[in-house]
Amino acid sequence: MYNKVFKLNRIKLQEVVPQLNSHPGSSSVCLSNRMLGAVVVGVGTAGAVRIRDMLTPLAGSAAEKLTVQGFISRRKLDAYQDVKQISAEEAVSREDIHAAFICTENDSHEDFVRMFLQAGKHVCVEYPMALSYQAAAQLWDLAQKKGVVLHEEHIELLTEDYKQLKKEVEGKTLLEGSLHFAGGALKPGFGFPAFSGIARLSWLVDLFGELSVRAATFEEDAEQGYSKMTAQLLTSDSKPLTWIEERQAGLPRTKKINFVFDGFTLTQIPPAPRGTVGLFMQDLIHFSGKLSGQVSTEELDRERVRILHCLGLAQKIQELCKS
Ligand code: NAD
Repeated sequence: MYNKVFKLNRIKLQEVVPQLNSHPGSSSVCLSNRMLGAVVVGVGTAGAVRIRDMLTPLAGSAAEKLTVQGFISRRKLDAYQDVKQISAEEAVSREDIHAAFICTENDSHEDFVRMFLQAGKHVCVEYPMALSYQAAAQLWDLAQKKGVVLHEEHIELLTEDYKQLKKEVEGKTLLEGSLHFAGGALKPGFGFPAFSGIARLSWLVDLFGELSVRAATFEEDAEQGYSKMTAQLLTSDSKPLTWIEERQAGLPRTKKINFVFDGFTLTQIPPAPRGTVGLFMQDLIHFSGKLSGQVSTEELDRERVRILHCLGLAQKIQELCKS
């Protein structure tokens, strides 16, 4: 019943809004009254949310322009939430599929992103888009060449807690700080902690601007399934910031901060009530806004620079940990 209602809504939208006939790669700015078909690759936690959000977009938002046409999975699933399973070959060749959501484990992002960009499709990839800086830079160049949107999801910047933290930090002069993340063991395929934990690095860069890496270490106890990465970072005015990623099966998910400012210390992420719009939905609206040409070139550039900067730092941290 639930899915039937949303399917009907989708059909209604498709009836009133003509499909995009032109080649999807012909322009990154799509006419605002056109529907865009999408495929979701990987139906784990994130992929399932993507499908759900496209079936039930926030009313009146740019997300209403996207209609999910199928999903790709390694498992034989037939239909999922009434959406059909299709092959990767079908997805890249279908003219009614204009965008792909890459929701697989991190180590397959790069190949999927490249495949869809090469086919002239817009791409929304869950962070991180690749497990090396060079790969990400190449993917961005490819997107530009093809004239399509490449968007990396960063829901960690959309949480109410983070928005509150950002307000508290704004205008203050940092003297030193640390961010210590702890969490359960990661499944295979998520990459080195500097990449799998890029959400924490994005916080630090978004709060304190460009950073550099001074030192980094990695401790591991494979028998205990324990790992700890410690990165010593510096702000552009040489203030030290420590970033720790600690993981072990059963470790409760926590984020501890200690930011020392001139005359003020922040030791807790300020609690804030949950927003009314889900994080992935906010991200979907942002991606759809890019497809509709509603996001300024300056903002697109700022995002690209921040994402590539974070991936560059992650790579440097990984190199130092492994040297
Ligand atoms: P998950 O393990 O739940 O899902 C991954 C899915 O991808 C699995 O169902 C797997 O079978 C499928 N898959 C893997 N390779 C595939 C292939 N070649 N073809 C088709 N399907 C394939 O993981 P998740 O938590 O959904 O995370 C996926 C991505 O989303 C990761 O990049 C993660 O960093 C990002 N992300 C997740 C969350 C979250 O809350 N779960 C939040 C932000 C970002």
